[in-house]
Amino acid sequence: MKNIKKWMAVVLVGVMVFAFAACGQNKVVYKVAMEPTFPPFDTTDTETGELSGFDVDMMEAIAADQGFELEWANMSFGGLITALQSGNIDIIASGMNASPARREKVDFSETYYDSGLVVAVKAGNKTITSIKDLTPDMKVGGQIGTTGADKCNELQKAGKIKEAKIYDGLDVAMMDLQNGTIDALINDLPVTKAYMTAKPGTVEIVGDVLNAESYGIAVKKGNKELLDKINTGMKNIKENGTFDKLYSKWFE
Ligand code: GLN
Repeated sequence: MKNIKKWMAVVLVGVMVFAFAACGQNKVVYKVAMEPTFPPFDTTDTETGELSGFDVDMMEAIAADQGFELEWANMSFGGLITALQSGNIDIIASGMNASPARREKVDFSETYYDSGLVVAVKAGNKTITSIKDLTPDMKVGGQIGTTGADKCNELQKAGKIKEAKIYDGLDVAMMDLQNGTIDALINDLPVTKAYMTAKPGTVEIVGDVLNAESYGIAVKKGNKELLDKINTGMKNIKENGTFDKLYSKWFE
């Protein structure tokens, strides 16, 4: 009798372990990457050290809605598309403009945020009041792999500036703008604006917005199954108010 009870207990524990493991394996896990010097979209939580930002919250809400899980990774913005194409990651959620050039390489979800490039200078700079004031003796910064960097390279090629200084992280670029290493920085409006709010009196935006950009979530070309999930999830979180709540949390 004693033995039977013992065996029943062993079997029961076995079944529970199996059921638990099966539960954990139930959900698909997708690898998602971002570049974390782009707050409020992509950043690192100062307390927990975890990746955070609007993109993280939005993707987690989409994942919860669609019943999948995410494993987050950070990488250089310039490496994101290659990582997606090679299958190292499944998703890019990194404030990425769904540009026609990128659409040739990857597939984008419906766009979720309208943005654009702006020129920033050190606060108090009276010489540069718009992109037209950049001169052939100046150094202008941009982040690697971004449309801002493209603009810098274009200006250099045209002989309008001396050097396009390409940075891995925007945090360092912002510091260099303040210490005079670069004369101007070309970066996305909402991110530069957030920096000005977080650190008043450091940098300022000059002139008009240079272009129109819209951020989308990217997947490998042809990965329709995942793209459909992301688009459906995005539609659902827009309809149920989650998207607006996250928007207020990060932008208002
Ligand atoms: N405008 C940028 C782009 O190329 C922004 C990218 C970023 O730094 N996250 O999409």
